[in-house]
Amino acid sequence: EQKEWRQRVNAPSISKDGQRFEISANIGNPNDVAAAVQQGADGVGLFRSEFLYMGSDHMPTEDEQYQSYRQALIGMQGKPVVVRTLDIGGDKPLPYLPLPREMNPFLGYRAIRISLKHPAIFKAQLRALIRASAHGPLSIMFPMIGTIAELRAAKKIFNECKRELQKDQPGLGNSIKLGMMIEVPLAAINAEQFAKEVDFFSIGTNDLIQYNFAADRGNDEVAYLYQPLNPAFLGLLKHVIDAGHRHDTKVAMCGEMAGDSIALPLLMGMGLDEYSMSSSSILRTRTLMSKLDTNECARLADEAINQCVTAGEVRALVKERLGEIN
Ligand code: PEP
Ligand code: MG
Repeated sequence: EQKEWRQRVNAPSISKDGQRFEISANIGNPNDVAAAVQQGADGVGLFRSEFLYMGSDHMPTEDEQYQSYRQALIGMQGKPVVVRTLDIGGDKPLPYLPLPREMNPFLGYRAIRISLKHPAIFKAQLRALIRASAHGPLSIMFPMIGTIAELRAAKKIFNECKRELQKDQPGLGNSIKLGMMIEVPLAAINAEQFAKEVDFFSIGTNDLIQYNFAADRGNDEVAYLYQPLNPAFLGLLKHVIDAGHRHDTKVAMCGEMAGDSIALPLLMGMGLDEYSMSSSSILRTRTLMSKLDTNECARLADEAINQCVTAGEVRALVKERLGEIN
């Protein structure tokens, strides 16, 4: 099995009927790029930039960050890299940035909410990214966006940074694609409006599930409510993907669900464009993808969303079909 997977290191991510997708890597720092390349990633779909901050004893400077983003882009050898701006707060503290104690950290002060309140920190990161974009195809995405106002505020600061840097280097950063995570329920519901304002979506299922089921993603007592295959949740994903595609907005997924073999045929059937996962899952996923027909997957997704009522029913349905393939 491992051997069959290895043969696909340089192969395209393609379905049985020839439809192209992208299978990319989630990384936490530029050193992870080696494993992504070794496992044949089509790109980096999620660079969790907060690990640069968490691994430092001081707020990383613009120059320090520039070096890290540049290293990741160069390491990927021309393949696209998506960097997510700082996503701290919630369960991820920063020792040198004191944040208030909160009753409900996951519903509190985190991610883009912090960046928008600290423009100097946010600008240092965006300037580092814009400078690094000279070294390869870079995309930037914003975490935990819930309202159009937040998205526009983030884009405004990005454009300010770009204008400042372009005084010395005309055109710098013009090729950067801007996107947002879909992980707040309202962003998913309102995907149609958001799609008009970004180049791509990346669905963060870890948080999107946590918030939709109102169940802490780290609490074992409520782990039974972590249900990526729940038919109503699948319907919400389909809504996001369809809304994106109506506006030529690419739709990716970078939560754990993107690397789940049971979810794969459903997501392919809904037309999800990019699957970003830990590097160790890439070749397994690419191999399974090559055995799946997108038209059949579309029928399967339709049946799961419209005829199943529980996650268990969806799981049984998909397992039965996958059994016929392997
Ligand atoms: C997610 O929420 O699915 C996601 C990818 O972000 P993180 O796991 O870093 O919160
Ligand atoms: Mg998240």
